[in-house]
Amino acid sequence: MKFLTVSQWADKYRMVSKEHSIEPGPWRTSRTPYMKEIMDAINHDDTQNIVVMSGSQVGKTELLLNIIGSHMHQEPSPVMIVEPTLDLAMHFSHGRLSAMVKEVPELSALIGGCHQKHMLTFAGANSAASLSSWPSRIVLLDEIDRYPLGDKEDLISIVIKKSNVFYNRKIVMTSTPAYKGVSKIKAAYENSTMEQWCLPCPSCGEYQPLSWDQMNIKLCSMLCKHCGSSHIENEWRNGNGKWIARKENAKTRGFHISGLASPWVEWEEAFRRFSLAKENGTEELMLWAAMTLGEQWNNHAEFCRKSKMR
Ligand SMILES: [Zn+2]
Repeated sequence: MKFLTVSQWADKYRMVSKEHSIEPGPWRTSRTPYMKEIMDAINHDDTQNIVVMSGSQVGKTELLLNIIGSHMHQEPSPVMIVEPTLDLAMHFSHGRLSAMVKEVPELSALIGGCHQKHMLTFAGANSAASLSSWPSRIVLLDEIDRYPLGDKEDLISIVIKKSNVFYNRKIVMTSTPAYKGVSKIKAAYENSTMEQWCLPCPSCGEYQPLSWDQMNIKLCSMLCKHCGSSHIENEWRNGNGKWIARKENAKTRGFHISGLASPWVEWEEAFRRFSLAKENGTEELMLWAAMTLGEQWNNHAEFCRKSKMR
């Protein structure tokens, strides 16, 4: 069998379960084009760490499922999935993961007959016992900003250190940022390539990220920062997007995805929620920014500037 990158594997084999998605059926990477580069980063020899800081509705769980599925099928390796709690990890295992295995015959055939299932370990960041297992080559740290603070953090570092025995280990961290206080995903992102999903202006063709600063709520559109023209969401999203790095980092690729890039977030609805949150005070607005834009609006001056009605 020809080796496929994670996105190629997903396009060929992955079925999205109707129990867990409003868009069941064959997976199409083209539906969330920003995911292609992120999925395939795991196949690059030079890349060891992948950091994804995002809004809450961008398809992050599907990313993890595609990584797990392609490794189970093509590159059996010990994989550890860490969720904020052991209950959530078990829920992921019995829910989303089981559904994927059931819907993809190539994966169903692997489970049961051989040792494949023992290569997946599910752990909770709140459970020391679940974190103390054998080393994993692939470590998926999901929603790390929801992990309990304190001594359990050391256990996560130990999980990462233990994977050192694999020269080709991969550490994937994903999270919506904490809306206030310390954000581990933000810190990890700032220590990465700091890539932004950029789209070409439909008028002048200049690439730029979907930036809150350029949004026009009344027109439900975004202004180009180069030529000033205004375009609605589909005009921007239909462009041929690409990731643009802001820093060099040999081992750690970091991606920020605003929910405004997601096909499941309507700008009109996002702006309506922004106005509602604004009426309900600062905390609500900070929560909105974290969940929708995947940004932490913690700096007071920045917050005041960004929260003004545009
Ligand atoms: Zn333009």
